[in-house]
Amino acid sequence: MDTMHAMQLDAPGTALHPVERPLPLPGPDEIRLAVSACGVCRTDLHVLDGDIHGTVPIIPGHEIVGRVDALGPGVSGLALGDRVGVPWLGHSCGVCPYCATGRENLCDAPLFTGFTRDGGYASHCIADAHFCFPIPESFDDVHAAPLLCAGLIGYRAYRLAGDAPVLGLYGFGAAAHILAQLAIWQGRRVLAFTREGDTQSQRFARELGCVWAGASSDDPPEPLDAAILFAPVGALVPRALKAVRKGGRVVCAGIHMSDIPSFPYADLWEERSILSVANLTRADGEAFLPLAAQAGIRTSVTTLPLDQANEALDRLRRGDVDGALVLVPPQR
Ligand SMILES: [Zn+2]
Ligand SMILES: [Zn+2]
Repeated sequence: MDTMHAMQLDAPGTALHPVERPLPLPGPDEIRLAVSACGVCRTDLHVLDGDIHGTVPIIPGHEIVGRVDALGPGVSGLALGDRVGVPWLGHSCGVCPYCATGRENLCDAPLFTGFTRDGGYASHCIADAHFCFPIPESFDDVHAAPLLCAGLIGYRAYRLAGDAPVLGLYGFGAAAHILAQLAIWQGRRVLAFTREGDTQSQRFARELGCVWAGASSDDPPEPLDAAILFAPVGALVPRALKAVRKGGRVVCAGIHMSDIPSFPYADLWEERSILSVANLTRADGEAFLPLAAQAGIRTSVTTLPLDQANEALDRLRRGDVDGALVLVPPQR
């Protein structure tokens, strides 16, 4: 087989369409993967909608699980057949001031999988061998896929939320359903905030052990020590600020958000803070993936064939899924 199959975006605002391409060869320090599963992330919707601007045409997808099927020159430590995961951060320069200080997530010259380099809505993809993670054996391919962004960037947000015994999660989708399990396993009380009237997600959150679930417009029954915003809704920032106690943090975990409305300084005062999370470091992945296995996290996954990527994105947009959506390419 010397061709690959993929779902490609030609321009923002258009649908993905199927393409056949020559099978790419990995360059120096690169591997080629036969993709077995790729998660669908909200960031993919922002790419499609043109909320953020990367390279086009592009093959989206940055929650990739696959097996190495070709090795480029100079790759060591990986062998044909190895199972690896490929995350959003596809490459960092290694020399800019951010890379030099352990903050490669802020690299000045990065490549992002499925955004500025082709991703995993495909039968095959090329990845930088230095930016792949081994996947713990307890996860099968489709259940591992959401860990690679929803889990990983969620984990970075969770760390930045600090030592918060009472944690609010705004937007109970793929990331929150993973982080809630980790936080509860670590003995925290988790409160879930969903869209108004989304009783299905609220029930799902309670089933996973959240002590409370309600609408994001509701006042929580107890003050939060920290809040993480996964929903891309700027109006939630002042709401979450009101819900956190003195010294509380509000962490914005998404890559894009609607504008934040103005609010009284009094709501920020008393050392409350607002911060954002950008991307991930490899250290985040090396810490999180084994921890996810240790905590016994179970991802809730709905699979769709790769050719139904547009349908999957529509379902994500409508909020019509518990947990994560994962695309599976035809196995050949
Ligand atoms: Zn850099
Ligand atoms: Zn993502």
